[in-house]
Amino acid sequence: MGRAEIKRFKRGAEEVMSFLKPRLDGKSRIKIIAHSDTDGIASAAILARCFYYYNVPFTVKFGRVPNDKEISKMSEDGHDLFIFLDLGSSQSDAINRYILSKHMDVIVIDHHPGTFIEGPNIAHLNPHIFGLNGATDISASGATFSVVEQLDLRFRPLIGLAIVGAIGDRQDLASGFTGVNDTLIKRGVDLGLLSESEGLNLIRRSLIPVVECIRTSTRPYIVGLSSNMATCRSMIDALGISHFNILSGLGSECERILSDAIYARVGSIATNEEFRRTLWGAIYKTNTDDLAGPKELREYAAILDACGNLKRPEIGFAIAVGDENSQADGLALLNILQEKLLQTMGWIVTNINSFKETSTFRYIYFGEVVDSALLGEALSLSIASGLLSTELPVIGLSDVANGQIKISARCTQMLTKKGVNLGHVLSKTAPEVGGFGGGHDVAAAARIPRERMDEFITKLDGACNNLNDK
Ligand code: C5P
Repeated sequence: MGRAEIKRFKRGAEEVMSFLKPRLDGKSRIKIIAHSDTDGIASAAILARCFYYYNVPFTVKFGRVPNDKEISKMSEDGHDLFIFLDLGSSQSDAINRYILSKHMDVIVIDHHPGTFIEGPNIAHLNPHIFGLNGATDISASGATFSVVEQLDLRFRPLIGLAIVGAIGDRQDLASGFTGVNDTLIKRGVDLGLLSESEGLNLIRRSLIPVVECIRTSTRPYIVGLSSNMATCRSMIDALGISHFNILSGLGSECERILSDAIYARVGSIATNEEFRRTLWGAIYKTNTDDLAGPKELREYAAILDACGNLKRPEIGFAIAVGDENSQADGLALLNILQEKLLQTMGWIVTNINSFKETSTFRYIYFGEVVDSALLGEALSLSIASGLLSTELPVIGLSDVANGQIKISARCTQMLTKKGVNLGHVLSKTAPEVGGFGGGHDVAAAARIPRERMDEFITKLDGACNNLNDK
């Protein structure tokens, strides 16, 4: 994966910009359809900031990947240009059948695998087209930024939002960012728009007192400290730190001392690589007032994530387009999400021995204990917190409405390098039991009928074994 692919991606962004530019005359009725997660919200906000500048009217709809019926319905609501953000690549057939065939225009800016139609009425930007890795090299927000940056350099301060989407999609690896993301970070730092330092990577490190920050920590979930105010207080007291101090203001030496105290508390987890790299790492900040919202980009991503997860994406969108009044609402949602995740993680720690193992993955059935929207995140957090070993992918299954089961799957980048592709095996196996699924190599999801759960586990194991044999 090298410079040539990144250059081709940039040319792809220019082509999308050339498609978009003549349609910014205010005459096209534009509809943005964006994924209701951090990356989708950040992407929509980048495009919205650009449209505001050109006085282009538009509507935004946030949601999950739309099905054929929803795409058919949307084609009847009188818009001329449909812009799909962070979704759309796997819906090419429906987009072709219901929108392009009626001579309406489409732009798809996505980083999920799929099929890419060509034609005079459609422009597609997706890292997969250029041989880049959609799970790590660039997210939809980075791709959207790459398009608007070509329109006018005045949109450059939005680079922070490009990184927020990438962080939301966990594209910051142990070794840092790769591909187009890496070039964006370097450019942002060179231009003075971003800065990078190191520290304790706890969510809300610049927003709430240090004791509360550790008590509510879910990434990582710190066994013995997370959810336990008394142990957090006694640790902070022993270090002589005031309870009211904000972590980001402690100074790097004090942050180091605090991280050592945390390692001392967690026993053998302290040697777990995933835990160590989650607890301590790169801190990215935006240096520009042109970007509304928190300065620390991980916190920014966490707030948008809470808005998406708790089904209030419009609040995250409002924050990212500059509505300062929405920030308090976003923080309140983050608070609610953290408490829900703390409960879920507490359940996982208590039931850690309930994980079962096949030859190719580890899995757990949550029943109704976990909100299905938090299932994938709970698995990611379990890996990031050193609760599960990483030599096998982990699958979670939870009950949802209408006799269905939601399945989320997660693994490490290391496993994908060995050939594991969770999106591939779920998109193949779920339809075999009357469901559907898809996603990235490293993170994927599916829905299947509940009564076929055992059959699904067997088939999935077979599909993973086949993949291993290749
Ligand atoms: O729901 P969860 O967070 O586990 O989903 C993991 C990833 O799989 C997400 O990036 C989601 O967009 C993707 N996905 C997909 N197609 C599906 C289901 C999930 O691309 N049918």
